[in-house]
Amino acid sequence: MAAAPEPAVLKAFEAAKGFMPLDEGLALYAAAVDAARLGLPLLEVGTYCGRSTLLLADAARAAGTTAVTVDHHRGSEEQQPGWDYHDPETVDPELGVMDTLPAFRRTLYRAGLEEHVIALVGRSPRIAALWRSPLALVFIDGGHTDEHASADYEGWAPRLAEGGLLVIHDVFPDPADEFTGQAPYRIWLRALASGAFTEVSATGSLRVLRRTEAGSRGRR
Ligand code: SAH
Ligand code: MG
Repeated sequence: MAAAPEPAVLKAFEAAKGFMPLDEGLALYAAAVDAARLGLPLLEVGTYCGRSTLLLADAARAAGTTAVTVDHHRGSEEQQPGWDYHDPETVDPELGVMDTLPAFRRTLYRAGLEEHVIALVGRSPRIAALWRSPLALVFIDGGHTDEHASADYEGWAPRLAEGGLLVIHDVFPDPADEFTGQAPYRIWLRALASGAFTEVSATGSLRVLRRTEAGSRGRR
């Protein structure tokens, strides 16, 4: 039987703000369970309100490792007021700017997963520049511009251990399907072209690749 998230975690996933459909969530969870066997941390770029973090956290808990999630919590371009993916509830009423950290903390607390997650608040490339530990999984679901997606790939993919998994969300090979650009698709192509990864699975717009040579080599 394929591993499944705890029922309470699935309920929390459905209740959390966010855009990831369940089939993609289950594929992310399966990748997290697979990767967590390496006994290394699972890293996510793009926490938002914690919907996908829950699944990494549940897999980390089962394997005795930790999920690390990175976000400045001010939202991506398409989540700002006036854009398609804006949720007015994510605006800090005092400052009038987005702040998804409170919703994220509620999501994790309610699911009882706080102790399995380390949340890093800041810009992904600034955090990646300080990061030296090998990772079992890198899940890229942050900014969708070429600038952001490329920086996430360049900053985090080299930290993947051999056998670790690179997971990329919002990969749309057909421009007719995309809703926030094809930058995630372009980094997926780049990972394949680097020769350091092999394809594992594709579920909706979620792509899973396995690192076949040790991290920090084959950086392209
Ligand atoms: N993984 C989440 C959705 C993430 S939405 C889920 O499935 O529910 C994308 C998030 O990336 C937003 O919260 C935004 O604030 C964050 N983000 C965008 N660019 C970023 C950057 N350069 N550094 C850190 N976070 C960034
Ligand atoms: Mg996404």
